[in-house]
Amino acid sequence: MSVDKYIATTKDVGGIPVARLLPQAKRKTVGAWCFLDHAGSDDLKFADDSSGLQVGLHPHINLQTFTWMLQGEVWHQDSLGNRQLIRPKQVNLMTAGTGNQAGISHTEQTPEGIKDLHAVQLWIALPMNQDIKPNFEHYPELPEWQKDGIRYILTTGQYQGYSAPTTQFSPLLGVDMQFDVTGKFEIEKQDKFEYGFLVIKGELRINGQVYGQDELAVLSDCENAQGELELWASEGTHVMLLGGEPLPHPTVIWWNFVGSHVDDLKQAVADWNAGHARFGDIALDGTALKRLVAPQVPDALKA
Ligand code: MN
Repeated sequence: MSVDKYIATTKDVGGIPVARLLPQAKRKTVGAWCFLDHAGSDDLKFADDSSGLQVGLHPHINLQTFTWMLQGEVWHQDSLGNRQLIRPKQVNLMTAGTGNQAGISHTEQTPEGIKDLHAVQLWIALPMNQDIKPNFEHYPELPEWQKDGIRYILTTGQYQGYSAPTTQFSPLLGVDMQFDVTGKFEIEKQDKFEYGFLVIKGELRINGQVYGQDELAVLSDCENAQGELELWASEGTHVMLLGGEPLPHPTVIWWNFVGSHVDDLKQAVADWNAGHARFGDIALDGTALKRLVAPQVPDALKA
């Protein structure tokens, strides 16, 4: 087993400060999880003249967007006709579908009067050997329990005998963990999984190495028993444990697109900018939102 540490880069997404943990130059995925943003914080309060998160109409292909809401509220609207408010302890899962005919587009907006935002925004790369249709699912209630001073919420997958209702196309895990005590703990591991710990708040130690807020620990080659795993967290720590089986093909990412080959991305850029029907549409009249333009795929990007 190996444990690697990754540090966030700070970005602005729709007016909100986000810490981006995936992709990294040396680590593109954890299982099929291929994008990881920690957006806002418990303490974030929008300025009086700020309208919060305002993400204009943009497309996705070959991935699922997975929103895990911790604080605040966000309106999701998509080209399938869905309009859904997401609140804390809920998951929104939007599936773009697979292949060069499929796609989806959506907007995300803080409702008027809401002044806070704290969320984990993830993407899941879809297995390209499956014919997957665009879809949107909202999960208002998820398994929640406490054990040995840790509060758990299961956002996807199976853990400690609990099972989340969240749709999966490859084996995945997402567990929100909050520590009410300081001390050692263990995780349940599944065969073939690699794991990542996102530290949302507090301090985690893995084999003596310290991980603080907006740092990601990736555990790979987990079947190798030579690697011992000693986990420790301080009281008040909040982490998200991610896990999954790696996909059988490489994943390339450009802008809001994922594919197994750079040609998938070039096709999507051309199609979106030409207004292709594969992405549907949303009427933006009467809103402050714009339709975003896809930047060209750089020549340096390789599959
Ligand atoms: Mn999006």
